[in-house]
Amino acid sequence: MSSSLISRDLASVWHPFTQHSLWPVDDPIVIDRASGVYLYDTDGRRYLDGVSSLWVTVHGHGEPEINEAIRAQLARLDHSTFLGLTHEPGIRTAEELLRVAPDGLAKVFFAGDGSSAAEAAIKIAYQAAVQRGEDRPLYLHIAEGYHGDTLGAVSLGGVELFHATYRPLLINTRMVSSPGVLAEGQTRSGRAFEVLAELRAVLEAEPGRVCAIVVEPLVQAAGGMLTHDPSFLVGVRALCDEFGASMLVDEVATGIGATGRWFAVEHAGVVPDLMVVGKRITGGTLPLSAVLATQEIYDCFLGEGTRTFFHGHTYTANPLSCAAALANLSLMHERGTVARAAAVGEALGAGLSAIERYDGVREIRRVGTMTGIEVNPVGERTGFEVCRAAREQGVIIRPLGDVVVLMPPLGISDTELAELVGVVDASIRKVVQ
Ligand SMILES: *Cc1c(COP(=O)(O)O)cnc(C)c1O
Repeated sequence: MSSSLISRDLASVWHPFTQHSLWPVDDPIVIDRASGVYLYDTDGRRYLDGVSSLWVTVHGHGEPEINEAIRAQLARLDHSTFLGLTHEPGIRTAEELLRVAPDGLAKVFFAGDGSSAAEAAIKIAYQAAVQRGEDRPLYLHIAEGYHGDTLGAVSLGGVELFHATYRPLLINTRMVSSPGVLAEGQTRSGRAFEVLAELRAVLEAEPGRVCAIVVEPLVQAAGGMLTHDPSFLVGVRALCDEFGASMLVDEVATGIGATGRWFAVEHAGVVPDLMVVGKRITGGTLPLSAVLATQEIYDCFLGEGTRTFFHGHTYTANPLSCAAALANLSLMHERGTVARAAAVGEALGAGLSAIERYDGVREIRRVGTMTGIEVNPVGERTGFEVCRAAREQGVIIRPLGDVVVLMPPLGISDTELAELVGVVDASIRKVVQ
């Protein structure tokens, strides 16, 4: 069965972030079903989902309470536009997001994917400044950052491999170095201090011209799980206040529990002006994302018709997605999932401590459950080879270059986590020792 599906895939499908000259020889797997932390292929083989289906699965696949909530919503209201109409699942999802978000965020603007929410936040930051009567056409952003694949988000990205091609098309921004890329022997707090000085230098060189500083708080995930010191975020907040820029944080990867807190900014005790949330909102079932904004930002959009935020999508606040989000957030409260994620992170760290000493491993970086294992590039595709070896032992993980990424479902059990760590250990030994 899988071989005929693969040939049909090759005939018709173009996959995201995939080099199609390599895809056929890499033995594609056809996923048929999923349950808990496991995916099953069409040949009945089982794989532990070690990256939670690209960082989205919270409790596990096929969570009965989320499925039931989607079914019940489907029977009542499948979809209705959010332009000029409203509905209870959308209202309640906004309330529930604000309940877990840092105090000070007051309004929720819905979108579909992380990129589309990042795009909305980027426009909001600029338009808010315009409507305060300020001319602030510049964004300040961070090397190795990733905010999605739409052009605004790419403009604020800093992953050369993904973004360099599009430079001639992008909006004007100023990029500073990554606080997660350290010189030999440098401390993370020392590095944070240096990059804050770079930010200050740009703000001073462009007085009153920067509408927002855009950061992925604590972990630059797609950039290779690069981690920085919380003092960096405290410093960014202070610079935004001093220079009248908005602090725009992208919590698409870090938010909703992955760092062991609801949001990564909590580790620094910082409240941003705009916060982008996506990935895990619906527990990994349906697309939904959102921009959370302060009352001050929202108020900039009140008044004449021209002050409207002329932005939105056909499926904004889709009721099925909202029902899934409500069920997921409610289960997270009930089960103490955020505290569990912190514990999973600690167990993961302990489990990986032996691996850290291998010659082939340069560094392990981790915040909560978000983990990157940087392997030495003995070949061009070392990270890929490790993931490939893991797949043969029934674990799905994905590399980012030479960084092997682990991001288990937050609700993974101790035994399942031990299975993940064991296979990763064996795979790294096989490929780089
Ligand atoms: C995944 C991600 C995005 C993009 O989200 P999509 O849903 O893939 O569009 C944006 N920002 C960060 C930090 C991400 O990890």
